[in-house]
Amino acid sequence: MANIPKSVQEVLEILTAAGHEAWCVGGCVRDTLLGRTPEDWDVTTSALPEETMALFGRRALPTGLRHGTVTVRTDRGGVEVTTYRCDGSYHDHRRPDTVTFTRSLEEDLKRRDFTVNAMALGLDGTIRDPFGGRDDLAMGILRCVGEPDKRFDEDALRLLRALRFSAVLGFAIEEKTAAGIHRNKELLNDIAAERIQAELFKLLCGKNALAVLRAYPDVIGVFWPEILPMVGLDQRNHHHCYDVWEHTIHAVTAVPAEPELRCAALLHDIGKPATFTVDENGVGHFRGHAAVSEELADGMLRRLKCSTDFRETVVRLVAWHDRDIPRTDKAVRRALGKLGERDLRRLIALKRADNLAQSPTYFGRQRELDKGEVILNRLLAEDACFSLKQLAVNGRDLTEMGLSGPAVGRMLNALLDQVVDGDVMNEREALLKTAKDLLPFVAEL
Ligand code: ATP
Ligand code: MG
Repeated sequence: MANIPKSVQEVLEILTAAGHEAWCVGGCVRDTLLGRTPEDWDVTTSALPEETMALFGRRALPTGLRHGTVTVRTDRGGVEVTTYRCDGSYHDHRRPDTVTFTRSLEEDLKRRDFTVNAMALGLDGTIRDPFGGRDDLAMGILRCVGEPDKRFDEDALRLLRALRFSAVLGFAIEEKTAAGIHRNKELLNDIAAERIQAELFKLLCGKNALAVLRAYPDVIGVFWPEILPMVGLDQRNHHHCYDVWEHTIHAVTAVPAEPELRCAALLHDIGKPATFTVDENGVGHFRGHAAVSEELADGMLRRLKCSTDFRETVVRLVAWHDRDIPRTDKAVRRALGKLGERDLRRLIALKRADNLAQSPTYFGRQRELDKGEVILNRLLAEDACFSLKQLAVNGRDLTEMGLSGPAVGRMLNALLDQVVDGDVMNEREALLKTAKDLLPFVAEL
C-alpha cells in the first residue's frame, strides 16, 4: 500500500531482521494517508540507540543520542531512527527534563502531540493507531493526544503547531483542544523566537490561514500584541467593508503563499490603530499609517529574530503598500530601480490583495495594477535600464573624464536618473556627452 521510500524500507528491514520492532511514525504516516508527499520519513524502533549504532556500524551517525536519535546514511539520504521513548516531567514548557527509552510503541505514540501525528506504519502496511488518528484524519480534525491543558503545559510550541497544522491541512481544531489553546496561550512566552517564527510562517502560508487567523488573534497577540487593536476596529470609511483585522486576514490570503508576502500583508496596516481619526462627518481616516506600519513591522520582525534580508523585504513592502501604483514608463523604471524586479512584482501582488480586501466598489483598481504590470513586463522585455550596473558607462569612463572620489558615484546616479526619466538614451556616446554637460555641477557638489 504505502509508498515507503526504498531507503526507509531498507532501514526497517535491517532492524526487523535483527529482532527489533521498527515503524514509520508521525508526519510521514499522516501525510501518506492523506495522499500528500511526506517531507521527511521518521523511523521509530524498540532498539536502543546503541543497538541501532551497532547494527548500522559506519552508516550510523549519533545525531541526537540524548533523545535516542541515530541517523542512518543510505544511498538516498539519511533516515532518522529514534528509539521508542516516553518523556519525563516538563518544567520549562519547552522540553522534557528526562527522556526514558521504552520497549512499547504505544508509550511512544502517547507522547506525540496530535492524534493524526500519533500513528505508526509498518513495512507490511499495518497501521498502529491507538488514539483514533485515522478517524480524525478522515474527518479533518486536529485533536490533542490526552488532556490538552497538560499537553500544552508540557510544551507550549504545540499551541502554534496546532494552529499551523490547522492552517496547512485545513483541519478544524477540536473543541477541547481549541479551548486549551486559548487558555494556555501565555505559555508561548517561554518559546524561542526562532521556533515561533518557523511555525508562524508555515501557518501564514497555509490554505486555511484565514480561518485560523480569524479564530486565534489572541494567540498571535502573545508575541505580537501590536495586532490586537486591529481586531474589531471599524474603519468607518466607504473604501472598506471589513474591520481592520478582517481586512488584514483577507489580504493575507489574497497574496501568493510565500512567507515574505504573507507577512507583509499581515503587517501592512499594523499602523492603522495608532493613526485612526474620525472627521466631523463621522468618516474614519488613517493618515500616515504606512510609515507607522513600517516602524512597527520592523520592530516586530526583529523581535522574532527574522533574517535581515527577510525583514528588510517585508518592511519595504509595508512602507510602499499605500503609494500610488506606478503606471507610466518613468514611474515603473523608478520603482524598478528602488525595489528590483522581484520586490516590485511582490508589491503589485500586495496592492492587488489590499484592494481585493476592500469594498467591491473599488475593485476597478485591479485594472490600474494590470496596466502597471503590462508596462513592467514590456520594460523588462526591452531590457530597460533601471540600475547602475545596466548603465552604458562605468566609473572608469568618468575617471578618465577627470572625476574622482565621491563625484564619480554622484555622476553615475545623475546619469541613471536621466536615463530612468527618459531624458537620455542608455548609450555610451549620449551618456558621455551628458556627463560633460553635467560635469561642472557634479564636480562642485
Ligand atoms: P512536518 O514535518 O510536515 O512539519 P511533522 O508532524 O512530521 O510535520 P515534525 O516536527 O517533523 O512534524 O515531527 C515529527 C513527529 O514528532 C510529529 O508528527 C509528532 O508525532 C512528533 N512531534 C513533533 N513535535 C512534537 C511536539 N512538540 N510534541 C509532541 N510531539 C511532537
Ligand atoms: Mg516531519
